Amino acid sequence: MWKVTAPQPLLLRALEGEIKTDVAVIGGGYTGLSATLHLAEAGANVVLLEANEIGFGGAGRNVGLVNAGLWLMPEEVEKKVGPEYGSRLVNVLGHSPDLVFKLIEKHGIQCESIRKGTLHCAHSPGGYRALQQREAQWKDRGASVKLFGREEAAPKIGSESFYGALLDERAGTVQPLAYAYGLARAAQQAGANLYGYSPVIDYIRESNAWRLSTPSGRIIAKSVILAVQGYPEYAFEKNRKAIIPYNFFQFATSPLPEKVRKTILPGGQGAWDTNLILSSYRLDQAGRLIVGSAGQVENLAYTLHEKWTHRTIKKVFPQVGPTTLEYGWSGRIAMTIDHIPRFHILDNNMVTVTSYNGRGIGPGTVFGKLLAEYTLNGSEQDIPLPVTKQKNIYMRGLRGLFYEAGARAYHVLQRRIL
Ligand SMILES: Cc1cc2nc3c(=O)[nH]c(=O)nc-3n(C[C@H](O)[C@H](O)[C@H](O)COP(=O)(O)OP(=O)(O)OC[C@H]3O[C@@H](n4cnc5c(N)ncnc54)[C@H](O)[C@@H]3O)c2cc1C
Repeated sequence: MWKVTAPQPLLLRALEGEIKTDVAVIGGGYTGLSATLHLAEAGANVVLLEANEIGFGGAGRNVGLVNAGLWLMPEEVEKKVGPEYGSRLVNVLGHSPDLVFKLIEKHGIQCESIRKGTLHCAHSPGGYRALQQREAQWKDRGASVKLFGREEAAPKIGSESFYGALLDERAGTVQPLAYAYGLARAAQQAGANLYGYSPVIDYIRESNAWRLSTPSGRIIAKSVILAVQGYPEYAFEKNRKAIIPYNFFQFATSPLPEKVRKTILPGGQGAWDTNLILSSYRLDQAGRLIVGSAGQVENLAYTLHEKWTHRTIKKVFPQVGPTTLEYGWSGRIAMTIDHIPRFHILDNNMVTVTSYNGRGIGPGTVFGKLLAEYTLNGSEQDIPLPVTKQKNIYMRGLRGLFYEAGARAYHVLQRRIL
């Protein structure tokens, strides 16, 4: 759906022959595109290689909520990351929507951007208590957040189903693929060379430089930024072992009639809930209601999650009435056990930041910029994460299966029995 409603993408060709460059960026999502843009703007010679099309990974499949911070509450992030990096990480990611909306404005990116905040909706009394903690912790850190009780929240969400909602005014929404296309265009205009359909199938260190091979070309680069996140393919398939695959699907209705559309999230926010198997809700510019939750929609699972979506719309937004679901898709989120992103110096002049745990629009844009700066000045001090070694996750396949099976079981039962 995002592909259908986005403006025309850049027409990228595959790399052919050999090119020498200062920096090679691998992966055309937010991290890779932001790194490429900032490197090109700083005058570096930079080449981006994308295995498929721009936005093939999470960047073209996500909900489009430009959230501030990570999914974990600030105190938990600080505890898990430690005193040296924790509060910096919370602060940098808390401000990440600023960079996203600044780039959108600066480069005139057409991506349905709205900065009116997001609503985190309490699905239960326990969820409301968690939001009270979240509000207090963010307020302590100077963030513009506001908690609404049940009655106040209902008209803001357009639903009586929630126990309250936390408005985070720092956040907003975008058409996620259009934002990626816009970053790609800006990077190209700044002088970067971008190639599509150019998977890195091999890489080797050769006399102080990296030689990256694609099926029809080669790049000789002094430095490499790896930005493949939840979609490591070809030469980087082994990186999958360091992330837990967590799928998230979305279904979109046909554009709703104006009078119904006006009742749902009328303030222009996107929303998600406090449930452990969380759901997301937003409208796009055409007035489609887009509902998402955990799980993938291949084969039989499509029907199961589609039926759940119909039941959910009926329960949460009964004013919609009978509707067709025009589009359904899913994508892979790169998760870690502790839900904290990772910064790895993989080798000489080869770096990555990965595992945004479902929060990649702001973090990807910010970490892309920070990786560009790191590549230019060689100091990791500005990156608010410790350098760690990439480690395989024990039983990652089973853990992924557990999430998938859990999501399916929950969606079979929810709104029938639960
Ligand atoms: C369904 C879903 C919903 C989400 N919702 C939200 C949300 O609402 N808000 C939010 O902030 N985040 C959300 N996220 C997370 C967000 O989309 C990701 O964190 C973000 O896309 C990560 O950006 P990235 O550039 O690091 O990686 P990606 O966007 O995944 O890009 C990685 C790219 O690397 C390419 N690649 C892989 N291997 C190679 C290779 N060998 N050679 C060349 N290229 C290669 C892939 O083709 C891919 O295009 C969601 C994710 C999903 C899947």
